[in-house]
Amino acid sequence: MIDPSGECDLAIVGAGIVGLATARELQRRRPDARVVVLEREDRVGVHQTGSNSGVAHAGIYYKPGSLKAKLCVEGVRRMYDFCDEHGVAYERCGKVIVALDRSELGRLDELERRGQANGVPGLRRIGADELRELEPHAAGIEALHSPQTGIVDFGGVARALAGQVEADGGVVATGCGVNGFERVNGRTRIAHAHGETSARQVIVCAGAWSDRLAVAAGADPDPRIVPFRGGYLTLRAEKRHLVRSLIYPVPDPELPFLGVHLTKRVDGEILLGPTALVVGALDAYKLSRFRARDLRATLGWPGSWKMMRRFWKTGISELRMAASRRAFVAACARYVPELEIGDVTDGPAGIRAQAVGRDGALVDDFVFSEAEGALFVRNAPSPAATSSLAIADHVADRASQTP
Ligand SMILES: Cc1cc2nc3c(=O)[nH]c(=O)nc-3n(C[C@H](O)[C@H](O)[C@H](O)COP(=O)(O)OP(=O)(O)OC[C@H]3O[C@@H](n4cnc5c(N)ncnc54)[C@H](O)[C@@H]3O)c2cc1C
Repeated sequence: MIDPSGECDLAIVGAGIVGLATARELQRRRPDARVVVLEREDRVGVHQTGSNSGVAHAGIYYKPGSLKAKLCVEGVRRMYDFCDEHGVAYERCGKVIVALDRSELGRLDELERRGQANGVPGLRRIGADELRELEPHAAGIEALHSPQTGIVDFGGVARALAGQVEADGGVVATGCGVNGFERVNGRTRIAHAHGETSARQVIVCAGAWSDRLAVAAGADPDPRIVPFRGGYLTLRAEKRHLVRSLIYPVPDPELPFLGVHLTKRVDGEILLGPTALVVGALDAYKLSRFRARDLRATLGWPGSWKMMRRFWKTGISELRMAASRRAFVAACARYVPELEIGDVTDGPAGIRAQAVGRDGALVDDFVFSEAEGALFVRNAPSPAATSSLAIADHVADRASQTP
């Protein structure tokens, strides 16, 4: 076991893909600094990093000028280079965003406009015939084709990043949950499972737990993380021919992360989903899991109630999909009509750390905040895995400007 106790220059809390990419970037920029990563689980990349759709997004959806737009377009390019360099599995398989009928064409136009404004390479509008050439079993009257969108083993990326941090002289300590911080004489004392580490600067990249640690360090409680469970189904092996690469719906602009999609993974498996259901624990991989503390945090946040009042209809349809495989498959069959209930089996689940404002708004862009000697990644939802190497650059720039 590695003992991270003692003094260090930079401590990063959380060994997900964002924390590890940040640690690697900082270790490279300051080769003489002692960089320590503190991770509660016994492995790196366990939570969102290891349980997502595995899609390397090209940057189509995001508001031009937003951090997401900038860091995704740059991040995906760097992610493919990183995978090449470190032998991590990936494939630039391309993706179609499909309009099922004329009512969706206006929103498809807007996506095309955003994608072009964001500089997504190769993005093209295609008709039904070309759609069927790419995805012979897909429904739809028109689509956007993004040849640069791909699939990546993000867990493999996290492991490769951890290896690099260690090779460059840093420490990655697993099984080392952080309990709190105290600022003493210009340094931060970090209390954790193995004792205490004193750091000149702390960067918190704790995913679903990020707000809890930020508030413990005296930061603003707004926004709060609300956990959304995303459940998947998988296609039986003999039905995998129904989906060649990535088939996506035209999203609702108010809830861009909703909507089931059909996704090839690097291991050849095809995922259907995910659903999006507010759950009773930050690690509710099983729907039945509740934790009093997590539930209190969600229900005690005024923004949760405002959000639920605003989106209750969507909540009910997500609940139906989570409760009924028939409803789930029917939602996917709108995109691949040959799909039948017997073609699927249970799949994995992931928990999205989605920041919700006090006013009930789902915070769309990446959010960072600062306190003396500390920097917090407060909202890093999709496409943060894709964007992680560019996010790391952004965080390292901010860290160098923070006292
Ligand atoms: C269902 C789903 C589908 C998604 N699909 C995609 C996709 O296709 N493409 C994409 O780019 N993104 C996708 N995302 C988003 C992406 O997975 C996340 O944005 C990204 O993984 C965030 O990484 P992270 O390092 O911030 O968080 P995490 O991977 O959650 O890591 C946070 C780490 O902090 C640790 N931690 C927390 N508290 C403490 C503590 N007190 N002490 C020590 N350690 C602590 C945790 O154990 C964890 O390891 C998806 C997410 C979900 C859930």
